[in-house]
Amino acid sequence: MSVLMAEISWVEYERRLREENAIVLVPVGAVEQHGPHMPLGTDAILAGEMSRRAAERVGGIVAPTLSYGYKSQPRTGGGDNFPGSTGLDGDNLSRLLCDVLAELGRTGATKLAVIDGHYENQFFLTEGSEQAIRRLRAQGIDNVQILKMRYPEEVKPETLDYLEQFYPNGYPGLDLEHGGIMETSIMLYLFPHLVNMDKVPSDPPADFPPYDLYPHAAADWVPPSGVLTPATKSSAEIGKLLVDEFVDLVTGALEATFRSSAADSKRLIP
Ligand code: ZN
Ligand code: MN
Repeated sequence: MSVLMAEISWVEYERRLREENAIVLVPVGAVEQHGPHMPLGTDAILAGEMSRRAAERVGGIVAPTLSYGYKSQPRTGGGDNFPGSTGLDGDNLSRLLCDVLAELGRTGATKLAVIDGHYENQFFLTEGSEQAIRRLRAQGIDNVQILKMRYPEEVKPETLDYLEQFYPNGYPGLDLEHGGIMETSIMLYLFPHLVNMDKVPSDPPADFPPYDLYPHAAADWVPPSGVLTPATKSSAEIGKLLVDEFVDLVTGALEATFRSSAADSKRLIP
């Protein structure tokens, strides 16, 4: 039986909420360049896949991915000067997420999880989650809880120690890890047919000043390939390590937050 909401009937969906008090996960991504070697949908694809794997472990249901995200920024995603990088205004992303969460809550889900795959989304998803709780309360529904996290919310220190050897200039931090070794390795492990290792650029790591500029000064700041850290040492082996770690991270967060008996779920369906 599928964990994907789009692949089950309303009858089966309702049964899982009523009998199992299933967690409903909402993956959020972006349409954003990821260098010449990876697809524009990388963030959405990975948020969806991490959610699917976590849902299989906790008996959850994955709602359709919100595939567009907030605008790519030069220092974290290369910015808006790449054909195909297609961002939403922040208030639209907040409202989109608010509508989805509030509808899921109105029709019976009480355990909601927003799984973010795009760095720039984070505070607009916070706003959408806050607004959804406010809207549900105004409708008299006060038993909905929303967990929100980036699937790579944290990386274990020992994993960073291990990865250090693959970064010629040292680990640059998660915000510069755009189209770099971590994302490329994860894609190589999960979706190798979507990665073209022959096209991995050899740009040096990006060197940004400690501020942002508008309009974006991407032509000066961002490596022409759009990759912010060298990805040449990527491998499916590194990818497996990271996928296992991040699926554990998401699963652990869901279990810690929503661990409770299915028995109290009956009163939760309006
Ligand atoms: Zn990405
Ligand atoms: Mn991104």
